[in-house]
Amino acid sequence: MTTAPLPWILHLDMDAFYASVEQRDEPRYRGRPVIIGGGDRGVVATCSYEARKFGVRSAMPISEARRLCPQAIYVMPRMAHYQEVSQTVMQVLHSYSPLVEQASIDEAYLDFTGLELVESDVRARAQRLQAEVKEATGLSCSLGLAPVKFLAKIASDMHKPAGVTVLAHHAVPAFLARLPVGKIPGVGKQTGLVLETLSVHYAADILRYPREFWERKLGKAGLALYERAQGIDPRPVTPYTEPKSESAENTFDADTSDPAVLARWLFAQAERVGARLRKGGRKGRTITLKMKFSDFTQITRSRTLPTATNTTRVIYETALALLHEQKNTQRLRLIGLGVSQFGEVPRQLGFFDTPEDPREAKLDATLDALREKFGPAAIVRGRIL
Ligand SMILES: [Mg+2]
Repeated sequence: MTTAPLPWILHLDMDAFYASVEQRDEPRYRGRPVIIGGGDRGVVATCSYEARKFGVRSAMPISEARRLCPQAIYVMPRMAHYQEVSQTVMQVLHSYSPLVEQASIDEAYLDFTGLELVESDVRARAQRLQAEVKEATGLSCSLGLAPVKFLAKIASDMHKPAGVTVLAHHAVPAFLARLPVGKIPGVGKQTGLVLETLSVHYAADILRYPREFWERKLGKAGLALYERAQGIDPRPVTPYTEPKSESAENTFDADTSDPAVLARWLFAQAERVGARLRKGGRKGRTITLKMKFSDFTQITRSRTLPTATNTTRVIYETALALLHEQKNTQRLRLIGLGVSQFGEVPRQLGFFDTPEDPREAKLDATLDALREKFGPAAIVRGRIL
């Protein structure tokens, strides 16, 4: 009789990634509090462990960080550089499993299922991987190993920095009995409040109520929560294939030709598309505007920029210019925009080319960090259109 191989998912999370890169590159920063974030009105993107001792946290306003830790070294983020380092990390990971899913610039899942069966083997393999990442980049990472994705993610956070945490299959029920619900990825403030009023404190407490109850209470999220409480997470490790474009579109409740309304939608879309590009460290050169009219006909118009971008303002202004060029009087039922032609194409800057504005990049990074922490609806850029 053969038994199916036990599933093992590894989650890798780089330790204080941006700050560690800066400390690696600049010996004077080592052993000192380093805070990555833009300007006096920005927020903390990442900070070194030395800064965390002072209570500094990511997504905290820089002004507050300065109050808590005035002696810290404040550094502007260098995203393109971090992206390069990230690629080196991912290359190492690909030699450890055929199934690697990059979850963000400094996080990835690997599927070890079928490669190793015994707990001690899995740990040894993870430790080799960790050492190799260190050798290739000079940086430390923390690893979590568990039967499913969400538990692997929780595990990687348990012994930071430089931790390797293995949550063996037989240990999962006891682990869930003591796991505070707030630790389950996806349980935010809102859901947290609901759970609190029900006196659901630990993951296992969720099972005191039936599946139907959670579905009624929280919909799809409730069903997922009920699964997590049993250690179930059906999401597979999906090797990432780079999309050829990023886009967003909206269909209106009522058709419109109001330029102010259209501009506002385009701005929101540029924000969404820009954030997705920045998260993946990608830039595109071609901006496409899509319009569907009240008679259901549809057109697209594109412009290719001299340099690739992922800046919200550049995406927005290019799409808006395309809209204005249409001199359209028909009402629209849908508007959308997209960015494609990824990859920085090396070329000389011409006289009329504007390089990416560092202030815009800084603003984008600030808002991205806030959204990451508080959710997409938390922050809307104040802007007069
Ligand atoms: Mg990290």
